[in-house]
Amino acid sequence: MKMHDISLMVTEKTVTWENTEQGFSKRWAAKLGTPGNDFNLSVLTDGTHTGTHVDAPLHFIPGGKSIEALDLNILVGPAQVVEIFGRDSVTSADLEGAGITPGMERVLLKTDNTRLKRKDNPIFDEGYVGLAPSGAQWLVSHGVRLVGIDYLSIGPHGPVNTQTHTIVLGAGMVVVETLVLDDIAPGKYTLIALPPKFQGLEGSPCRALLIEGELT
Ligand SMILES: [Zn+2]
Repeated sequence: MKMHDISLMVTEKTVTWENTEQGFSKRWAAKLGTPGNDFNLSVLTDGTHTGTHVDAPLHFIPGGKSIEALDLNILVGPAQVVEIFGRDSVTSADLEGAGITPGMERVLLKTDNTRLKRKDNPIFDEGYVGLAPSGAQWLVSHGVRLVGIDYLSIGPHGPVNTQTHTIVLGAGMVVVETLVLDDIAPGKYTLIALPPKFQGLEGSPCRALLIEGELT
């Protein structure tokens, strides 16, 4: 089975939204070799939107589903990676011309965010490429249930960010953000994007994988 890890390595330097959100940190609650400790045990602190992560509808939709309630059939299944370069935002026209297979329920957008390695820069870049509201509408009207993108947010920076999130999350779609698509050729794969099962979260880090071919 040929597998690609499309998750970002999260460190204490990993870029966070506008450089203001809580990022990842770890402290040792017990440390091997210190008096009274015969094991290592750590406590982590993290924002729920650090690194590769899932947005649940609750992120923007009052009463929307939280992470542990997401349908696993959305988080695992056939996915198509599409390359859309040279665009400030991804519009319905871009998606229309992207060769997305009819009926494809998971679409991962590989944009200039990847080409410019924005996710690797510890400084937040508000000029990132996001999905325009028209693109969000296109995905909803084509039955897409999961959309992924290669920077911290599905929507472009600014007021339009809320519009895009509201359209996709309001339709019950799941969003996966900060995907690592550097080495991923466009085409069809099987996606696995599973967040841990904590109760009541609106977002959560996840480990995202693409498997070549279909899972049997
Ligand atoms: Zn998010």
